[in-house]
Amino acid sequence: MNVLEIRDLGVDYLSQSGAVHAVADVSLDLRRGEILGLAGESGSGKSTLANAVARLLRPPAAITSGSVVYHRQDGTAVDVLALKRDELRAFRWKELAVVFQSAMNSLNPVSTVGAQIEDVLRIHAPKMSRNDRSERAVELLQRVGISADRRRSYPHELSGGMRQRAAIAIALALNPEVIIMDEPTTALDVVVQRDILHEIRALREEYGFAVVFITHDLSLLMEISDRIAIMYAGRVVETGTAEALHRTPRHPYTLGLLRSFPRLHGPREELLGIPGTPPDLRSLPPGCAFHPRCGRAVEECSTRLPLLTRGPNGSDGSDGEVACLLNGGRGVEETS
Ligand code: SF4
Ligand code: MG
Repeated sequence: MNVLEIRDLGVDYLSQSGAVHAVADVSLDLRRGEILGLAGESGSGKSTLANAVARLLRPPAAITSGSVVYHRQDGTAVDVLALKRDELRAFRWKELAVVFQSAMNSLNPVSTVGAQIEDVLRIHAPKMSRNDRSERAVELLQRVGISADRRRSYPHELSGGMRQRAAIAIALALNPEVIIMDEPTTALDVVVQRDILHEIRALREEYGFAVVFITHDLSLLMEISDRIAIMYAGRVVETGTAEALHRTPRHPYTLGLLRSFPRLHGPREELLGIPGTPPDLRSLPPGCAFHPRCGRAVEECSTRLPLLTRGPNGSDGSDGEVACLLNGGRGVEETS
């Protein structure tokens, strides 16, 4: 059962020199209650994809093609890209919530964390009594590891980890079915990161929401995700269970990522497992965009665009997809 279905999604950044395809032909399912990890280097389109799905793109970025459908528990479907402004506001809290990398940006600096949860409830659950709102705020904060007395703290009075936990509590306020987390723990130290991620897993067990978790750190994703999608140059190049990708990555880029130790900051740094840097989206290499960095590239890799092709993964027979001409992926001849 899918809670979210993304089909053939395209996002362009419009610039004076033309359109840059930040996300191209992305089709991806999010199953109910799963943790889907989205990995790839900076500029691979992960955040753009997430922002498109949450309808948070701002000009010059624009959705140019495709669809996003959200399936409610009761069987009704929502055409996310067609939602109007007021519908969108409710959708974003009740059905799908977003937690950003910098909690400072999503928290209100002049309001206590408890009050911020209560505000969300007051606006979106108007039937709740004041008392219920305050009880619910305390309950949510405790669920993410913040003690009741800290509900009167302002964001700047909390540590980075606590702020991130508060942002997660706010996202959970209206029991959304989908939570998108865009590098929510990148700025935190490794121990705090792991703690929070394992708590997200525990919360998922309790509340049943699905998570799209975005990070460039594939090893971290392997620990907490059920399935993983790998992006390169705006396209999904491999999907599979965390287990299968860990044991038998099929796309050479996935293999490279697994062998890499990416730095936390700085976009175009070389990865240890992969020579070269991510391509400039304004002038993508023809064919498979990965070919200039791929140790397995053959001649047709520079003329044929590999399409994401479904097939079983050899190691455990689980279903996955890969976009590589040498690994069972179909391709199309590039015309331009
Ligand atoms: Fe490498 Fe060719 Fe596969 Fe692209 S299609 S990943 S260049 S082997
Ligand atoms: Mg990003």
